[in-house]
Order: sequence, then C-alpha cells, then structure tokens
Amino acid sequence: MTAIDSAALAADLSRLLAADQVSARAGDRAQHARDQSAYPAVTPDVVVWPRTTADVSAVLAFANARGIPVTAWGAGTSIEGNPIPVRGGILLSLRQMDAILTLHERDFQVTVQPGLLYKDMNKQLARQGLFFAPDPGANASIGGMLANNAAGTRTVKYGATRDNTLALEVVLASGEVIRTGSRSVKQSSGYDLTHLFVGSEGTLGVITEATLKLHPIPAHFSAATVAFATVEAAAAAVFEIIGAGLEPAALELLDAVAIDILKAETDLHLHPGPNLFVEFSGASQAALAETLPALEEICREHGALSYQAGVGAGERARLWEARHSVFEAYVRHYPGQSYTVTDASVPISRYPELIASARSLLDELGVSGGIVSHAGDGNAHVVIFYPGEDAAAKAQAMAFNDRFVARSLQLGGTITGEHGVGLGKQKFMAREHGPALALMRQIKQTLDPNGILNPGKVLGQER
Ligand SMILES: Cc1cc2nc3c(=O)[nH]c(=O)nc-3n(C[C@H](O)[C@H](O)[C@H](O)COP(=O)(O)OP(=O)(O)OC[C@H]3O[C@@H](n4cnc5c(N)ncnc54)[C@H](O)[C@@H]3O)c2cc1C
Repeated sequence: MTAIDSAALAADLSRLLAADQVSARAGDRAQHARDQSAYPAVTPDVVVWPRTTADVSAVLAFANARGIPVTAWGAGTSIEGNPIPVRGGILLSLRQMDAILTLHERDFQVTVQPGLLYKDMNKQLARQGLFFAPDPGANASIGGMLANNAAGTRTVKYGATRDNTLALEVVLASGEVIRTGSRSVKQSSGYDLTHLFVGSEGTLGVITEATLKLHPIPAHFSAATVAFATVEAAAAAVFEIIGAGLEPAALELLDAVAIDILKAETDLHLHPGPNLFVEFSGASQAALAETLPALEEICREHGALSYQAGVGAGERARLWEARHSVFEAYVRHYPGQSYTVTDASVPISRYPELIASARSLLDELGVSGGIVSHAGDGNAHVVIFYPGEDAAAKAQAMAFNDRFVARSLQLGGTITGEHGVGLGKQKFMAREHGPALALMRQIKQTLDPNGILNPGKVLGQER
C-alpha cells in the first residue's frame, strides 16, 4: 500500500464528519498507537471519533472505496495487541458513542452504544438493582468487550460476554448497517451472526449498538480465602469444588508471588502461599449457609493450610478490588521490566494439569512471574517479567508462552480463553483450528473483501 498523507486524509474525512471529530495531530495519533500489551506501537494516520452509526457508516464506505485500513478502538486495554493499527490508516475511536439507549428493566436487558465503559454502565444500572456480569479487570468499553469476547471473575457463574449478548447493530466494511439477533432470550432463527461478530476483534464489522443480558444484583454474598501449600493442591481443590456442584459466583486462584505482592500492598488478611478466593451469592443467607461448610471440607481434604470464611462486606469489596488490581501490582513489583501475559483455558477436569505445567515450566525455563487464574472456568494467566533489553530473557519468556499454549491444546483447551488472538496468538491458529481456519478466512473475505477492517489481526492476512 502506498504511504498515506495524514493531512490530506484528515481533510477528506472532515468533509464527512465535523472538524472536531477528526485529528491528524501527533498527540492524538500517539495516544491510539498501542494497547496494554508489550507489542510495539504503530501510529495511525488519522484518528476519528464518530458520534452516530451514520458517522461510522460514512467513514467505512469512504475507507472501503479507497482500501484504507480502519481499526476500531474502545478503551485500548487489550493485552494481545488487538487494537494496534498495524497497517496505519484510520483509527476509529468509539468513545463518543457511549450512551445507554434503552433500559428494558422488566426483561433484564439494556441496549447501549459501544463506547460506554462497563464499570460506568454498572454504576448506573445499580440504581435499578441490575448489573452486566462479565467483568474484565480493566475498565473496558462494551464494544471492546464484545469484540474480544471478554470474561472475568464472574464468568464461572454468568458466562462470558458472548453468553450475555442478545442482539447487535453492526456496520459492515462497505458501510452497510445490519441488525443481528433479537431481544428474545431464545433464538433459533437462521445463522447466529450475533455470536460471529462477538469475538471477531473488529475484523468483520464495527459494532455500533448492543443489547445485553442483565442480572439482578444478588441480595446476599459469602466469601472465603483459602491458602494451600502448592498451586497443584489449590487447582485440585478447584476441580472438586466445581464437581461438587457448589456453583461459586467467583473462584480465583492466585499463586504465592501474587499473594506476597497483595500482602505488601494491602491490609488484607491473607495467609501466605497460593490462595483461592471464593465467593457465593444468592437470594438468602440460609441458602448460602450450606455452601461454606461444604467448601471448607473439600479444601481441608486437599490440604488447605488456612481457611478464612465469613469475609464481611467491606473486606469482600477490598478482596475483589485487590484481585482486579493484581496485574498493576505485579507491574509495580517488577519496575522497568517488560512483561507478557499468557492466557489459556482448558476443560475443568484438565485444569490441575494446566496449572502444574505452568509451575513446572516457570521453574524449568527460569523465568520470573506468577499465576493468576479464573480457576472456576479452567482459565489461567501467567504474567511473565523480563528485562526488555535482554534478548535471551525475552526469548525464554516467549518460549514459556509457546509451550504453555501448546500444553493447553494438548489438554483439549484453547489458545486464548478471553484476551483474544490479536497479534500474539495468530501463530497458533492453524494448530487449534485446522481446516476450519480456511473457512474463517472465507468469512473474512465475504464480509471484508478489501481487507480494510483491523488488518493483520486474528487471521494474519496480508493485503
Ligand atoms: C489490568 C488488566 C486486566 C484485564 N483483565 C481482563 C480479564 O479479566 N478478562 C478479560 O477478558 N480481559 C481482561 N483484560 C483485557 C481487556 O481489558 C479486554 O480484552 C477488553 O475487552 C478490551 O476492551 P477495550 O474497550 O479496551 O477494547 P480495545 O482494546 O480498545 O479493543 C479491543 C478489540 O476490539 C476492537 N473493537 C473495539 N471496539 C469495537 C467495536 N465497537 N466494534 C468492533 N470492534 C471493536 C478493537 O479493534 C480491538 O480488536 C485486562 C486488561 C488489563 C489491562
């Protein structure tokens, strides 16, 4: 592709949008050059901020006719390079499309624009006693969550973003606007396009509206923290907890490194060693009262060193705040170091093996880092730190990632449970999907024949 003249492109786009919706300023372009991953920044040629679906449609039709890359941007919190505009072109920030359009309170649904941040949305929904369950640690946008099929601590009970999405409005590469799905919770009508766009990382269309499932905020909670001697013992307990049908609302595993960091940074009363953070929620205390003794019994059988239940409301809030901030805490603990976050997910019966292999690979390769895991759904992250200027250390970190992902596939799992493919996981796509990858490429070709939508991602197509 020939080099793009930023000023000329901005001038062209200013004929479609208001002047304050288009910028070729270096500061604006630099702000949208990288996400939270370690992948190198790539500066887009122009940044645009659409305010309506018609704006998005006009930009895409313009770009499609000229073969100009368009990369959608939510909050830029991805950790696989997903929104980095690797081919330059137009950076389409959805942040000004951030309205709650309709609250369907009696149906437990909300229709929103994609630039809305999910934490802001949940603050507003709390007034009606409702919440949207998927909760990635960062304050992501709904559009970014949909595009990455984000998940979080509550996925074990409520599912990932895909499971909580009913209908979408999507602008196709050509600028055509389509609607998918419906507000019915049962849908059996035709191909499931809604769930094709969810998880497509902005490579098939730009989501401009979404109708999401909500849940009532549970009236009662109980929480426990349980320490073990080894991550393997903690992981074995996880399998038993799920197998016993206790249905936790959250079940997280943090290794000894993460616990040491949290103990240093917070006043939480955590026992040293790998810990499970477990929460149950329900309509009555009576129902919950039965679960904690069963949890304790399973944990004790697996050699729990410490079992602290009855965590009060204030402590519980601090516990989950700490869990959500553990990634930033790691970064503070390894100042100036580069990092990579691996993300793999397996069936729950194979989860103990995944965790055991993470621990043994860390030791074998001599890399620094720790395990932070959405254990209840078999999803594990290993955060690895290395001196960025040390090529050998970086190679070891990458070797860890490759071997950990390969192990996940061997165990019947996937190369990414929630962070998406972005840049980093493309090399594993053929191994996971085999001949189905060719079908994915055909779908991409059909929906985006000129390859303008977030090129260089997911399928790694060069154009
Ligand atoms: C500290 C920290 C903790 C995290 N914890 C979790 C976690 O627990 N679980 C989890 O799943 N993730 C987690 N993440 C990763 C990240 O927050 C999620 O992937 C999130 O969904 C990204 O949303 P975003 O709004 O930042 O999207 P962006 O990073 O801006 O974009 C993500 C992708 O979506 C595309 N996109 C954005 N908007 C649209 C749209 N409207 N239409 C089409 N495509 C679009 C982009 O092109 C890109 O490919 C974490 C990140 C950090 C930094």
